[in-house]
Amino acid sequence: MVIMSWFSLLSKRQRYTLLGTVVMMVVIVALGLRATAAIEEPSAETFTTEMPIRQIAPEIGVTGRALARELKLDLDVPKGKPLKTLGVSEEQLQHAVEHLLSHKDTTLKYFVYVALSLFAVVFLTELGRPDGSDVKERKSWYPRAPYLLILLISVIVCGFLLGKSPNPMEGFVKVLKSAVGLYPDPAIKMLAFLFFISLVVVGNKVICGWTCPLGALQELIFSLPILRRVKRVKFRFGITNTVRALLFLVVLLLLFGIVGGRKGFVVYHYMNAFDLFNLGFDPITIPITIVVVLVVALAVYRPFCHFICPFGLVSWLAEKLSVARVNVDQEKCTKCGACVKACPSEAAKGRVERKKLPADCFSCMRCLNVCPVDAIEYGVRKRGLAKNADPAEASG
Ligand code: SF4
Ligand code: SF4
Repeated sequence: MVIMSWFSLLSKRQRYTLLGTVVMMVVIVALGLRATAAIEEPSAETFTTEMPIRQIAPEIGVTGRALARELKLDLDVPKGKPLKTLGVSEEQLQHAVEHLLSHKDTTLKYFVYVALSLFAVVFLTELGRPDGSDVKERKSWYPRAPYLLILLISVIVCGFLLGKSPNPMEGFVKVLKSAVGLYPDPAIKMLAFLFFISLVVVGNKVICGWTCPLGALQELIFSLPILRRVKRVKFRFGITNTVRALLFLVVLLLLFGIVGGRKGFVVYHYMNAFDLFNLGFDPITIPITIVVVLVVALAVYRPFCHFICPFGLVSWLAEKLSVARVNVDQEKCTKCGACVKACPSEAAKGRVERKKLPADCFSCMRCLNVCPVDAIEYGVRKRGLAKNADPAEASG
């Protein structure tokens, strides 16, 4: 068993680090539970059509315009009139409020994200490779079991147990929605987005690679030992990134009303696969997106992240700043292609070839135990060492 042989090779320092990390994770989650207990969440049943938009919207953390939009009313409808005088039924109101509340962030989940990301960064930088072990023992490095366990926790806890919000994609989309007046607190939305970005910068996209529930679900599905031959065929990053960027552009044009003339229209709402975690399957485009993404993920590495997710796009740019990441030692590298073959996307290829803008790296570790000359490692990037420097930096 790889996990046993890895554990037996760990030094005393590493075992203490592992123990300390697990203790810290428990403390972080306990703090999260405490913080959450102090917050009272509103429930949809407390609102009636006797109330005006002005009274309901702040209670559920949206602007009057956002609630009006959800109720399919004109955005400039009078916000002080009882909803029933505007023709809104109790059922419509419940549906709208439930949907808006489903986007409300669960405070505890921020803490869980931090705890899981902490484990990811420590495992990647300190534990995956046992101290003093030789390259001949590389097959025992970076065992998959701890990674798969964290992915499973992400799906169950950050997904199904705590619901879809907050998640990195919404973290970004809510900033955009604030810009068109759909949220009353743009500064808080920006802070939430910066929280997610900071988890990209600390360890190369660990929030996507390890802790985003949708990313984790796709990673688990892709890890199933089936369709191995099909998996070897990789989409060109130029293609996936162009699709992702063009979709983002269309979203912006529609959101700001530059096209379509309906400010506040959010295309991602119709393809939000995170709705799976709330078992929310309305409109019909959502279950279609979920099924397509999960089926395609059997053979294609993280289709939602590569083709759709706007946070995937922005974090691909932010990962250029990441502190801990995959580093290729260009002096040692013989260009044998072992890591390129092991990588499920073009990320390793881009790093070996020192591309200026290599593909997204999800810190999945597949490349970290295959190099026969020990030229690839996960660690703090080496500033100022031209030979070892990050390819993007070296050629930029
Ligand atoms: S890119 Fe993937 S992993 Fe990252 S936020 Fe989007 S869905 Fe989640
Ligand atoms: S295999 Fe590819 S995506 Fe995974 S860590 Fe290595 S370079 Fe990144």
